[in-house]
Amino acid sequence: MSDETEQPPKRARKQQLTRAGQPIDRRQRLRIPPHHVTKQTPHDRIHNWDEVYFGYTAGPAMFEAQRCIQCPAAPCTQACPIDNDIPGALAFLELGKLADAAAIFRQTSEMPELCGRLCPQEALCEGVCVIGKNAKPVAIGKLEAFLGDWDRKQRGGFPVPAPEHESGQQVAVVGAGPAGLAVAEQMRAAGHSVTVFEAWPSAGGVLRYGIPNFKTAKDIVDEKAEALCQAGVEFRFDTRVGVDVDWTALSQYDAVFLGHGASVGKRLGLDGERLARVYSATEFLVRANLSDDQLPSALWSAPDVGRNVVVVGGGDTSMDCVRSAVRLGAEQVTLLYRRTENEMMGREEERRHAREEGVIFEYLTTPVGLIKRDGAVVGVECVRMSLGEPDESGRRRPTPLPGSEFVIDCDAFVVAVGYDVGREVYGDSGIDVNDWGEVLVDEHGRTSRPGVFAGGDNVIGADLVVTALAGAHAAIPAMLEYLADLQSERALAMAAG
Ligand SMILES: Cc1cc2nc3c(=O)[nH]c(=O)nc-3n(C[C@H](O)[C@H](O)[C@H](O)COP(=O)(O)OP(=O)(O)OC[C@H]3O[C@@H](n4cnc5c(N)ncnc54)[C@H](O)[C@@H]3O)c2cc1C
Ligand code: SF4
Repeated sequence: MSDETEQPPKRARKQQLTRAGQPIDRRQRLRIPPHHVTKQTPHDRIHNWDEVYFGYTAGPAMFEAQRCIQCPAAPCTQACPIDNDIPGALAFLELGKLADAAAIFRQTSEMPELCGRLCPQEALCEGVCVIGKNAKPVAIGKLEAFLGDWDRKQRGGFPVPAPEHESGQQVAVVGAGPAGLAVAEQMRAAGHSVTVFEAWPSAGGVLRYGIPNFKTAKDIVDEKAEALCQAGVEFRFDTRVGVDVDWTALSQYDAVFLGHGASVGKRLGLDGERLARVYSATEFLVRANLSDDQLPSALWSAPDVGRNVVVVGGGDTSMDCVRSAVRLGAEQVTLLYRRTENEMMGREEERRHAREEGVIFEYLTTPVGLIKRDGAVVGVECVRMSLGEPDESGRRRPTPLPGSEFVIDCDAFVVAVGYDVGREVYGDSGIDVNDWGEVLVDEHGRTSRPGVFAGGDNVIGADLVVTALAGAHAAIPAMLEYLADLQSERALAMAAG
């Protein structure tokens, strides 16, 4: 995936192990202390929307890379959904060969600077880091983000996929989130014409219309979209497949990739969810995080939060909402979650950041009603819960405790209880989906309709940026093979007259 002329060896660390004829001294490496990344203090960061972490600079990053003991089995690579060759990259990084190190991450990832910031590393690569058994694991994510940023700075932007020839074949991509962008990049690099249909006015999917600036600055997403435009990818924004574009139009393309994500916010089913100052997570985050010129509608402006904000939910989205509410100036921000912290889905680091920023966590609590005045929400009726036996999700089932009802005053209420896959894309395509609207695919991302592939949240349900990339990566080789076969069939048919 890199356009480097000199490709680094697949497993650069093998060379490292015998560098200058000396094997790596693993014991000595275990004694190297971690080089932490500096970050904004809670007091500072609640007054701005900048990224919390300042990120590594080259010197500390090289020291941190030396903590990697170059395990031959590389459990970190095995735990990475896109198989990043982490020891290989860190072997170059510790030598100060930053371009080579960055190129290794770019071989397997279209956006290492984003995964490095956003992956739940504690559950993936860093969670299995051998160093982490007795000390802090190697800071893989932050090193990956540093290398991606450094590399883009050197090149003046993302490396642009440059096709060596034009195939004359056309590919449609539905959705400009991580999965759709990855497929668009690889299809264009292979010489195909690529058109991306996107419902929002700009590219990025949740990276733009969800994840707040304090986790990832939007200019990285802008740069990615700009690089793809430069490479010749055509974007059709404000265009909904299934509404503005139908399957007769999509059938004109040689292959189609569905990357429409899981973007329909679940509702609680409470009376009053349409009251003023009751927000879905997506509307709240979009209005809070995007500048006026980036907002999808002139009617949308920063949400009116008042003094007290209550958010319900237990994943990364709810953390993004509470921390956005703090930055919008709310005096008291409360999170309601019906289970305990042990059952929460999102990152522990995000919860720690939220607590540091003053967010109040009400565990074992669920909203059962909204109190209104003059058409707007002014309070949330809550009930305490207790946990019973595990349910189908494997987590203990919460049940209400009779007589435990209470009210929390609130000026704004945000529903962040998860996302479903939208079905409008499917129209009369005949594509097989399951009961939740998720596209059924084989291990190569092939749907039930020939020439149509899918990957990302619309296949596996709301998940992660890196798993969306993994879904795209599963489909890309099958798409390329399908297009090549189609080309051959047409050539044969023409030759036969
Ligand atoms: C608030 C929030 C915070 C998150 N935080 C993290 C995090 O910290 N780390 C992490 O790894 N993951 C996080 N995630 C999850 C992650 O962002 C998603 O898993 C990932 O973006 C999925 O990528 P995707 O390409 O499958 O879908 P998406 O990013 O959802 O992109 C799908 C695109 O398809 C478009 N689309 C939908 N329907 C149509 C249609 N009919 N026609 C045309 N276009 C359409 C959508 O507008 C969207 O742009 C978060 C998610 C949310 C909502
Ligand atoms: S993509 Fe995610 S899991 Fe893979 S190495 Fe990077 S931070 Fe770790």
